[in-house]
Amino acid sequence: MSQLPTKLLFLCDHASNVVPAALERLGLPEDAFKTHIAYDIGAGALTAALAERFEAPSVLGKWSRLVVDLNRGHDDPTVVMRLSDGRIIPKNRDITQPEIINRITHYHAPYHAEIERRIAEIQAGGCIPVLISIHSFTPVWRGVMRPWQFGILWDRDDRLAKPLIDRLKHEENLTIGDNEPYVGTLENDCMYRHGTMNGLPHALIEVRQDLIADDEAVSQVAALLEVALRDCLDAMGPATLRFTRPLTLTSYLGNPHNLEGVSPMDEKTRTEMEAEVFRRLVAHLRARTDVQNIDMMNLAGFCRNCLGDWYREAAATRGIALDKDEAREIVYGMSPAEWKRLHQKEASPEALAQFAKSDKTHS
Ligand SMILES: [Zn+2]
Repeated sequence: MSQLPTKLLFLCDHASNVVPAALERLGLPEDAFKTHIAYDIGAGALTAALAERFEAPSVLGKWSRLVVDLNRGHDDPTVVMRLSDGRIIPKNRDITQPEIINRITHYHAPYHAEIERRIAEIQAGGCIPVLISIHSFTPVWRGVMRPWQFGILWDRDDRLAKPLIDRLKHEENLTIGDNEPYVGTLENDCMYRHGTMNGLPHALIEVRQDLIADDEAVSQVAALLEVALRDCLDAMGPATLRFTRPLTLTSYLGNPHNLEGVSPMDEKTRTEMEAEVFRRLVAHLRARTDVQNIDMMNLAGFCRNCLGDWYREAAATRGIALDKDEAREIVYGMSPAEWKRLHQKEASPEALAQFAKSDKTHS
């Protein structure tokens, strides 16, 4: 698998406290929208400041999280909050399923479509997007003072989160939350959907609101995070796609109308289906001995050997040691040397030249 340079994309799900006029402030008094229940105070300004420092693209949510929570999946029961911090949201309290779908279609889907567009744009430029999501949290929650200034949230892919936590811990007088004040493992949240499911490096940064209360403070925090992020990105170097969750149906994720009457497949069924597709791919490649590895590499950047190597890596993460040829044999259905003898044709000079030019990381 080839390693590619990375490029940052900044996201802010809870940047805005704006409610579309038609929704009549959701039945709340105006001052409710100055509080953290409506948005992440300071997060939008910090996201913009970071994007500017890195000259990176950013996507900021346009609507209050009380309209629809951009950091929840369509099927999440809290995608429209009926209650927030003990306060009832009048126009959400008895919201119907069609109205939820309506909110998702108009206010949730465009944000995620924009993120998808930005990711595609970076990928088209030959880079791996690194997603940084910025949120903020209240200093006091349910009467308890929170000890952290920053929290880094992550799920199963810690290649950016871990160094970021370690790096920030080196700063004096800082207490850094590791999956605090929240845990970053919610399925179908923004990082899950765009980071985990695309295999992209990502981290969610929670900043305590009192640290980013005005422009001056925002600028200081942006400076601190810029240095920390640059150190971590340098340490991480070029990246690969890393899938830590089974792929799910994007039509289910992407289409709010699938909310009705859908029964999402369970994880075991999904894994079995994926295994079946893999076996079919392997069977296909075993039958199509005319398809040469070098042509696959030149055209698509992977070949039978890569599949074998991915198999070996997947085994290794589960503590199962396979050697290179053993793993590749699972794909070939015979030893790689035997396959080579029986089916490998002499490569054309053009194919060899193209292969030599390409960024190949396997033998
Ligand atoms: Zn937030």
